[in-house]
Amino acid sequence: MKDGEEYEISDISCQLTLGILSLKNSLNWASFPKLAVPNTEIKPLYDVVVIGSGYGGSIAASRCARAGQSVCVLERGKEWRPGDFPEHSAGVFKEFQLTVGGEGRTHGKPNDLFDLFYTDDLTVVQGSGLGGTSLINANVSIDMEDAVFEDSAWPLALRNDKSDLINVDRKHFYDMIEPTPYPDDYPHLQKFDRMEDTLSKYDIEDLDKKILRRLDLYVSFEDKKPNQVGVPQPKCTGCGNCVGGCNVGAKNTLNMNYLPDAKAHGAELFTEVREAMSVMC
Ligand SMILES: Cc1cc2nc3c(=O)[nH]c(=O)nc-3n(C[C@H](O)[C@H](O)[C@H](O)COP(=O)(O)OP(=O)(O)OC[C@H]3O[C@@H](n4cnc5c(N)ncnc54)[C@H](O)[C@@H]3O)c2cc1C
Ligand code: SF4
Repeated sequence: MKDGEEYEISDISCQLTLGILSLKNSLNWASFPKLAVPNTEIKPLYDVVVIGSGYGGSIAASRCARAGQSVCVLERGKEWRPGDFPEHSAGVFKEFQLTVGGEGRTHGKPNDLFDLFYTDDLTVVQGSGLGGTSLINANVSIDMEDAVFEDSAWPLALRNDKSDLINVDRKHFYDMIEPTPYPDDYPHLQKFDRMEDTLSKYDIEDLDKKILRRLDLYVSFEDKKPNQVGVPQPKCTGCGNCVGGCNVGAKNTLNMNYLPDAKAHGAELFTEVREAMSVMC
């Protein structure tokens, strides 16, 4: 057998493994409860209307619902569940909206998952879907410096509440989103080694402690049946597709924690709401 043929066969077996994994996931997740309800169920009145379901919107929805408010979440994007995300560039392209020059969408639809906005001054990449940009981000957790909230740009009420913000609120967030170190028993990270090789050529003080370190990730590295809000989450397979959307369900995106929590406390979630403002009028 020639080398090329061996490669082809291993390629096929790799595709088969992926196929089986996708099938397994789709079977698992077919029973995953949908969070959004049909838009025909939007009521005329709520205590709180949250527009967008990223970190800002999901946390607000969960906190307000837990405080006993009637909450409605209006999201322009679709509901995405593990197994739904594109695995190849063609699928990504189908889910890609582009606005160049700030004068209307150049490509795609407003509910497409990947949203790129480009002008000469500003480039924005964001996610559009139930869970916002958490669906397509890299899930790296870097703790904030407490000093950030000393800036006078923040409202006075928030600065006066700094102790709660830094202690209780941070704990709430971490309990829910669960930043976790990359485990030692997971595959060795070769990219990390290459970075270490490169940086060790320079005389950098505290290289190991300050600069070259593994950051925590919003990822589940253990099977959770269920997680802290009752959602089953399989452990990370290390596939590396986090920024395309996690088809395993291991990434701690907002549809795995804050949004189901909001729903469990009575919030109503709506997707593909084109004109959130007109719904409110
Ligand atoms: C590729 C990528 C990788 C990233 N990696 C990291 C990382 O590793 N670590 C990290 O901390 N941060 C990362 N980020 C940044 C992080 O994801 C964002 O800062 C964060 O998601 C912003 O939260 P948000 O609530 O402000 O907005 P978003 O999460 O963007 O949510 C906004 C939501 O509002 C919806 N929306 C907007 N307009 C309307 C409307 N009119 N009506 C209804 N809905 C609307 C959008 O569809 C979206 O769902 C990354 C970002 C990207 C793009
Ligand atoms: S299984 Fe792990 S590596 Fe793969 S997309 Fe999900 S979180 Fe990322």
